[in-house]
Amino acid sequence: MVKSMNSNKQHKKVSLSNSGECRVVFCPDCGTLEINFGTSTIRTNYESLQVLSSVLNHAKVRLAKIHDATAGNDTTQQVRRIGRVH
Ligand SMILES: [Zn+2]
Repeated sequence: MVKSMNSNKQHKKVSLSNSGECRVVFCPDCGTLEINFGTSTIRTNYESLQVLSSVLNHAKVRLAKIHDATAGNDTTQQVRRIGRVH
């Protein structure tokens, strides 16, 4: 008997998270993580997911601050204007 059963084994992917057009799929057989976002697919691993997660979170916080400033008194533009005086 040839030991070919293992290599022929189908990789059963597990859906870790699913929200609208964003989906994270994990393959326990090879440890691959797939992030499906719209038509894009990012192949990654656990470590990269941790990095991506914290980077996205950081970007989200910073964007919220910028958005607040813009939605409020347009402070970013005022700062820019002040900077351009003389
Ligand atoms: Zn796999």
